[in-house]
Amino acid sequence: MTFVLVNAVYLIVAVSFIFGLKAMSSPVTAKRGIFWAGIGMAVATVTTFFIPGLHNQWLMLIALIIGGAVAVWLGRTVKMTDMPQMVAVYNGMGGGAAALIAAMEFAGGQIDRPVTAIMAVLGALIGSVAFSGSIVAFLKLQGIMKKALTLPGQNLANLVLALVVVVLGVVVVLTQNPVAVIFFFLLALLLGVVLVSPIGGADMPVVISLLNAFTGLAVGFEGYVLGNPALIIAGIVVGASGTLLTQLMAKAMNRPIRNVIFTPITGEAQAGGQIEGTMKEMSPMDAAAAMRYAEKVIIIPGYGMAVAGAQHKVWEMTKLLNDAGVEVKFAIHPVAGRMPGHMNVLLAEAGVPYDMIFDLDEINDEFAQTDVALVIGANDVVNPVARTDKNSPIYGMPILNADQAHQAIVIKRGRGAGYSGIENALFFADNTSMLYGSAQQAVADVVADLKTLL
Ligand code: NDP
Repeated sequence: MTFVLVNAVYLIVAVSFIFGLKAMSSPVTAKRGIFWAGIGMAVATVTTFFIPGLHNQWLMLIALIIGGAVAVWLGRTVKMTDMPQMVAVYNGMGGGAAALIAAMEFAGGQIDRPVTAIMAVLGALIGSVAFSGSIVAFLKLQGIMKKALTLPGQNLANLVLALVVVVLGVVVVLTQNPVAVIFFFLLALLLGVVLVSPIGGADMPVVISLLNAFTGLAVGFEGYVLGNPALIIAGIVVGASGTLLTQLMAKAMNRPIRNVIFTPITGEAQAGGQIEGTMKEMSPMDAAAAMRYAEKVIIIPGYGMAVAGAQHKVWEMTKLLNDAGVEVKFAIHPVAGRMPGHMNVLLAEAGVPYDMIFDLDEINDEFAQTDVALVIGANDVVNPVARTDKNSPIYGMPILNADQAHQAIVIKRGRGAGYSGIENALFFADNTSMLYGSAQQAVADVVADLKTLL
């Protein structure tokens, strides 16, 4: 193949990436989008082997086979609740690969133009931060590392370290001195670790999305270094969509990005006022009766529904309620679960039609006219202290207004707090009742009792 032909194929591939991404923005077309983007990636990978003058094709093939096999195995076995960890690992791999490209180019002394050196250094810096930051994010989400690790004077130390890395980057651009290159990479990796270590709790999704955008940028820069248009386009697409997603999520949580990075939320940091009231337990039969004789029920799923795999039972319950003439809607908070879209995917998998599923903005005003808000394994996303308690670390985060329904029923296993470790005022409210149990069993009990009431 000639360069012109290879680049022509890359251009077609770029179009498939963009159409794929567009299709992924709606659950109705998401599968198709993933298919087209996947085909595009496969074509781009094969085409790369035909770049004129390419060496080491066998090594590339072996790497592809090993990496591909691991990815297929992981993709097939990973649990939905472990997806964010996997996304973190993939982000990290992308960033690490971009940084390695730069490292190889510097080691081979192949960078002759200053602008290429600048691009290589920028990609290496962002890629290294994305790599080590993503590894830290993975360790936290996997529960291996403590959620938030803040040292005294952390922000100042981070700033000094960032400045040192930037200065070293300038030295690398000007001299390509091997010692400077090694220190530059080591400190850039350290920067990723110290930047992500203090971040925890409800900020994790935003950080993962930010690291994803970083990876895209790093890949784009290194695409320029290698003169590979497919990498440049894929990098820019990932960087831009990652940046938009980061902004949307930060907005959904009402947390400016600078606060996510410099003033992290930690459960331990909870100042919060004393919560009044007591938790009141209810039986599955009471819950079934409350919903059976309601006109309107809004179901709020959260992480607990995902872990318990309760979505099929929830859909069964919904159909029974519909048959009894009860209007049922689903309300999805943008950060419910452990990744964006987590709840939508699970509900779609169980067969819940898309037109029953509503975003926070679409449905939040309806709670005041709703008889029962049924919260299934959700916690932070329905915590009214985000609205009422200025001292709470989640103050200002938009929440689903379950507390405004005539009655709230909460299904969870015990008295444990949510992901951010903050006590939930909804559970203590006068009009809230707790149905204790693992979500799948609890909903199955409600379904059984509901059947006796029809
Ligand atoms: P939370 O983590 O706030 O709460 C989940 C609740 O589910 C817990 O209170 C837990 O209580 C309960 N639970 C756990 N297992 C079960 C089970 N088997 N059956 C029934 N209940 C169960 O979840 P939310 O969805 O409300 O909020 C998401 C949180 O996660 C937010 O803080 C968000 O920022 C964060 N996050 C979100 C990401 C995203 O992209 N969406 C990514 C990473 C974090 P108990 O132990 O008593 O059962």
